Amino acid sequence: MMHPMVTFISDDGKHEDWTVLKPAFENAGAPCVIAVTSGLIGSPGYMNDEQIGFLQNSLGWEVTSHLDSHVALTELSEQEIDRQFRVSKDKLQALGYRVTSVVYPYGANNAVVREIARKYYQSGFQSVGGINAKRVKRYHINRVAIGSYFDFGNDVDTGSFTYYKARVDEALHSRAWLVFMIHPAASEHDDKQQQALIETLDYIRSRKIPIVTVEQGLRSLADGTGKITIDRDTWLRKIADKLRHRLKLIYFFIANDS
Ligand SMILES: [Zn+2]
Repeated sequence: MMHPMVTFISDDGKHEDWTVLKPAFENAGAPCVIAVTSGLIGSPGYMNDEQIGFLQNSLGWEVTSHLDSHVALTELSEQEIDRQFRVSKDKLQALGYRVTSVVYPYGANNAVVREIARKYYQSGFQSVGGINAKRVKRYHINRVAIGSYFDFGNDVDTGSFTYYKARVDEALHSRAWLVFMIHPAASEHDDKQQQALIETLDYIRSRKIPIVTVEQGLRSLADGTGKITIDRDTWLRKIADKLRHRLKLIYFFIANDS
């Protein structure tokens, strides 16, 4: 049985990861995951190599790819999609980051994008979709917005602590993986949103739900502590194993029934 878990991914690798998020996550004793656009490291407004290295090596944060340039993959040729995935992974790994997953800019993905992502990454994240219950689609993992770029919702304030807390409760009750998406540099991410983020971190800790990196989350799913296996082949193999085991038992009873 999978246990509920929560992951926070901050997109774009901007300077606010350092100034706004680092103190909050250090205080909560939890890791954050950063999606870094490799071609923008060290540009004005973005973190430099030294800062990203510190977050990974000293605070246990995880670095994921957010491509080499911040583009919508669904608008590129297959060759160009492949290049974005490959170059960003190569550049980030050359800087010493253990990059194993990708966050699609604008959440833009389709079947072609996901198929090419498989060549380079263990998982891919989109920008919407709610909690990940039942079957986690490894190259199509849902996220819930916190602080800015709020979830779409009719008659619901999707930018409040009440909403974030309800998603945590939902993950707890469905034993699901909740992945929050943060953009700390967005203008919507003001003091009030920062406070809601801190309250959410406190609430998760008070419910004793683990705050994990993407790598830790995937490992926990693959370990069998995961509720549902993550790719279809593994899932089919498990069902086949179960059937084979049942058939063996039936055969055993028939054979010994005389
Ligand atoms: Zn982005």
